Amino acid sequence: MQCLFCKIINKEIPSDIVYEDEKVISFKDIHPKAPIHFLILPKKHIPSVNHLEETDKELVGNLFLVAKNIARDKNLNGYKLIVNVGREGGQLIDHLHLHLLAGWKSPEEREIPKMP
Ligand code: 5GP
Ligand code: ZN
Repeated sequence: MQCLFCKIINKEIPSDIVYEDEKVISFKDIHPKAPIHFLILPKKHIPSVNHLEETDKELVGNLFLVAKNIARDKNLNGYKLIVNVGREGGQLIDHLHLHLLAGWKSPEEREIPKMP
């Protein structure tokens, strides 16, 4: 049984894709916690940070580079990158992903979103 994000990667479930290459995909979060909320994930099914292996180093680096490039392309001057790990860390979908959050109009507004 494929996980929800693998189904999105395989286009079995529709999503609003922001970026895609051979190894990484980014799409809009269905329940945004900020005015701009993207998820950035490896196409390889890695359940969480706790499941990372030495051989995943380059892939993890790519996630951050994709985040940076999306932010540049969307003219985002500042943003938050968040990774939830495990249920107690607020992770609900067991497929490694970065949350890219941005677009607040004021610092007060920025503090409102709670993860998850
Ligand atoms: P987590 O809590 O695992 O770190 O984050 C999972 C995120 O996936 C949540 O912010 C949630 O809103 C988002 N999400 C859950 N189901 C879907 C879906 O079917 N499509 C999209 N685009 N996002 C989803
Ligand atoms: Zn998966």
